[in-house]
Amino acid sequence: MSAGSETPLEAELRAQIAQDGPITIAQYMAQALGHPKHGYYMSRDPFGGRGDFITAPEVSQIFGELIGVWCAAGYQMIGAPDRFALVELGPGRGTLMSDVLRAAKVMPGFLAAAEVHLVETSPLLTQNQKIKLGGAGIPVTWHESFEDVPEMPIIVLANEFFDALPIRQIQKRQAGWHERVVGLEAGALTFGLAQSETPPAFVDADAPEGTIAEISSARDHVAHALGARLAAHGGCGLIIDYGHTHSAAGDTLQAMSKHGYVDVLHRPGHCDVTSHVDFESLARSIEAGGAKTYGPVPQGPFLHAMGLEVRAEKLKEKAMSRQKRLINSAVERLAGRDQMGELFKVLALSHPDCPMPAPFEGLSP
Ligand code: SAH
Repeated sequence: MSAGSETPLEAELRAQIAQDGPITIAQYMAQALGHPKHGYYMSRDPFGGRGDFITAPEVSQIFGELIGVWCAAGYQMIGAPDRFALVELGPGRGTLMSDVLRAAKVMPGFLAAAEVHLVETSPLLTQNQKIKLGGAGIPVTWHESFEDVPEMPIIVLANEFFDALPIRQIQKRQAGWHERVVGLEAGALTFGLAQSETPPAFVDADAPEGTIAEISSARDHVAHALGARLAAHGGCGLIIDYGHTHSAAGDTLQAMSKHGYVDVLHRPGHCDVTSHVDFESLARSIEAGGAKTYGPVPQGPFLHAMGLEVRAEKLKEKAMSRQKRLINSAVERLAGRDQMGELFKVLALSHPDCPMPAPFEGLSP
């Protein structure tokens, strides 16, 4: 890569590593996404056809509407409180929340009781969310951390939020397990290994050399806080993301730019750096906090059970033929097995006294 194409964050990281030594993968991810000035989310709207990737709420309004129907049922399930916080972690463009509010209107009392609380660190996306939700006729408050959301019953949503929280990687070598780091070689960012580390419990002691295990205290911390909040004040929620049902070894760190995968160390600050979510670990942390979890189930069966086909047919009734084709391809994108239907998972969480939320009873993980 020519020196001219170096990103400002790359220059900063190289100087920092030259002075203080290699950084962990978690530190790299945190900087690449959240550096106050040069972080990926800090200054750009990455979503949609002209951006770097597309998320389910941006594929079709049907996604948010079905989640809204789930929230409306969840509101009843938690006892239809007079006041509750409708919380979203990492709301992007605000599209999901906007579609949820429109769909959940059908539940009497829902909108009158709801206060929207958005957890977002990006100033630019906060602005976009303000524009999108300004006309919703409902109070909306922004927070930098979930812990700042006021204590009351909550219905919480997180779509593609946890994948953006930093992970560490621990790699097996002949002599044992080591922390994987980002260092310098001939002045360029490169992966390396540092001090020895204890591997997480889910990896085999005799795993082959080169095996990588991923752990995330950042994800587990938020998950624990959600569980504790639900246990103390009541509520329920959905976490939706790409990832695996059971903890397992594997390198899932990835970077995306313009709808394609790129090297994880390529142009830091200009590419989205994420990893697959370990749902078993997430669920364990939520339960350690005191709440119950259900699933995860794959997104395709979840959306079908929530009425994807019925809603799509309804929309098609009023549509022209081009729009009909767009609706069909959105349904395929959201629920198709080789698209978002299988890799993406849905985990429900609720106060321990709540019954199993629909549609989880009919779905197997
Ligand atoms: N949920 C949206 C956006 C997903 S992208 C959608 O589905 O379209 C990830 C979102 O999480 C962005 O809004 C990003 O700014 C936000 N985010 C990333 N890291 C965060 C953090 N540590 N705290 C709060 N928000 C964060």
